This record gives sequence, structure tokens and C-alpha cells, in this order.
Amino acid sequence: MGATEKRGLWTERCQGCGQCILAITGSICPVCRCAKRLFNGPCGGSTAGKCEINPDVDCAWQLIIDRLRAMDKLDEYEKLCPIKDWSTDRAGGPRKVAREDVQQ
Ligand code: SF4
Ligand code: SF4
Repeated sequence: MGATEKRGLWTERCQGCGQCILAITGSICPVCRCAKRLFNGPCGGSTAGKCEINPDVDCAWQLIIDRLRAMDKLDEYEKLCPIKDWSTDRAGGPRKVAREDVQQ
């Protein structure tokens, strides 16, 4: 899922991982915006707020920290995120949704 930044420019904002944590990351998704999909960032490669993969790309965790600070919710950042269960993500294999009354 993505957002329209401006006419002709779309950026990814959610990869549908199945276990959303936006409530504790200031509504910035580390799954789709951090190159390493880190849940306790930033990594050691963040420099001046930019990601090590590309100096034109904002470090997602810098964005998260800045947002939480602005919201006076830095205490959320201090909490360690538990290990994520990726079985609900595409990495867990093909996903499907079925109504309970439908035979699978
Ligand atoms: S944490 Fe998962 S569900 Fe939430 S925005 Fe990111 S990819 Fe989407
Ligand atoms: S620099 Fe930031 S966005 Fe890039 S991989 Fe490290 S934590 Fe993720």
C-alpha cells in the first residue's frame, strides 16, 4: 500500500505485514521504510538522518524518533520491540483469507 506524494510520484507506506506496530512508531512503518526492516533502530549506518543505502533516503528510524519526540512519546522508543512473528507477512508464504463458513 502506498501514498501519492505528488502527481506522478507514489511511495510505499505499508507492506501488509499482518501485525501493525504504527501505534508505537509514530505512524511511520519500519517494515517498508527501513531497508533492514528493523524494529529497534536505527542501525549503525544511519548518518545525519539518512539511510546508509542511499544518502537521498531518510532513515526511517530517524523519522520515527523525530515524530515520537514531536508527539512527546519518546517513552515508546525506549521500549524494546519483541521479535516479530513474520509468519503473518508475505515471508511466511502465500497468504489467504477465507470466510469461516467456506470449506478450505
Ligand atoms: S507495520 Fe505492517 S501493517 Fe503496519 S504499516 Fe507497516 S507493514 Fe503495514
Ligand atoms: S540507516 Fe535507518 S533506514 Fe537505513 S537500514 Fe539503518 S535503520 Fe534502517
